[in-house]
Amino acid sequence: MSEILFSYAIQDLTLRHTWTIARGSSDCKTNVFVKLVCEGVTGYGEAAPNIRYEETAASSVDFLKLAQSTVEKADLWHYHNLAEEVAELIPGQTAAKTAIDIAVMDWIGKKVGLPLHRYFGLNKAKTPITTYSIGIDTPEVIKQKIGEAAPFPVLKIKVGLKNDEEVIAAVRSVTDKPLRVDANEGWADKEEALRKIEWLQTQGVELIEQPMPAAMLKETAWLRQRVQIPIIADESVKTTRNIPELAGAFDGINLKLMKAGGIQEAMRMIVLARAFDMKIMLGCMVESSLAISAAASLAPLVDYADLDGNLLISNDPFTGVKVADGQLVLQDAPGVGADPAANIWGKEEG
Ligand code: MG
Repeated sequence: MSEILFSYAIQDLTLRHTWTIARGSSDCKTNVFVKLVCEGVTGYGEAAPNIRYEETAASSVDFLKLAQSTVEKADLWHYHNLAEEVAELIPGQTAAKTAIDIAVMDWIGKKVGLPLHRYFGLNKAKTPITTYSIGIDTPEVIKQKIGEAAPFPVLKIKVGLKNDEEVIAAVRSVTDKPLRVDANEGWADKEEALRKIEWLQTQGVELIEQPMPAAMLKETAWLRQRVQIPIIADESVKTTRNIPELAGAFDGINLKLMKAGGIQEAMRMIVLARAFDMKIMLGCMVESSLAISAAASLAPLVDYADLDGNLLISNDPFTGVKVADGQLVLQDAPGVGADPAANIWGKEEG
C-alpha cells in the first residue's frame, strides 16, 4: 500500500460550565487527535481519555507512539485485521485505540465516497433523539442550564452526590420533560439505591444509569428485581467481553466508542447486546464533533442517544453531526462526516 503518514495533536477542550459528576469536577478536557494521510485522502480520529479507565492525554499519546509503526505498515483496507493488531498491542487504552479506528474508518468512507452510516447500510432517518446532560450543580445554575437545553425534549441529569433530591427538585421546578438519570456509581448501598430509584420513579424519570459501583454486580441484580424503570450499565461495560455477565443485572448498556476501542467494536457490542435482549444507549465522553459524529454514524441502531459531548464545549475544533429539535441529523459527507474547524496540528504535533 502507498505511504501512510500518521500524526497526532493534543488539544484542550474548554467546558462551557464546570462539569461535575459523582466522581469529580473539571473545567477543561484534554483530548488527542489523530490524522492519517494516505493516497491523498485524510482520515481524522479522536481520543477522549478517561481517568476512570486509567487513561490520560499522556497515556493516549504513549499508545499512539507505540501503535504508529503498526498503522504505517498496514493496508488500511484490511481495517478489521488492523484493529485486532492495534487492540493486541497492550491491554486498555481504548480511547487511543478508538482514535485510530475512527481515523481508519473515516479514511475508508472517504475512499469509497460514502458516509459511514450509508456504508453500514443504516437509515439516517431512524436516529433517536439525543439527551442533553445537566451536570451536578447548585439549583440556580441547574435552572440556567435547563434553559440552555430548551431544544432538547429529554434531559439527562447527573446525580450521585449528597444533593440528589435538591438537584431533581431544581429540575422539576422549571421543566416537566422526561428525565434520564445517571448516578455514575454514586450509590454504594443497595437499600439507599432502592429508596432513591423508587423516589425517582415518582419524578418522571424513565431510566437510571449505573446506580451502583461496577464491582457491585450482585447488588445491582437485586436492585433490578425491585424497580420498574430500566437500569442501564455504563461504568460496568467497556467491550463485548463484559456483556454476557451483565445481562442478568442490567436492562441495557451505555455504549461509548472511547470505552469500546472504536466503531468496529461498537458494532459488535450492538449485535451481542441485542442477542441478550438488552437496550442500547449510545453515549460519549467530553468530545469534539469529530468523535461525536463517528458515534452518531451508528445511531440508527440504538434505542437511546446521549451524544452531547461536543455541545458541552466552547472551542469545538471540528464541525459535524447536527441536532434539530433534539434529533441527531447525520451528515452526507463521506467518512465520519466531520470537518476540521480549527488548525490544531501545530506545535504539539507528533
Ligand atoms: Mg454514564
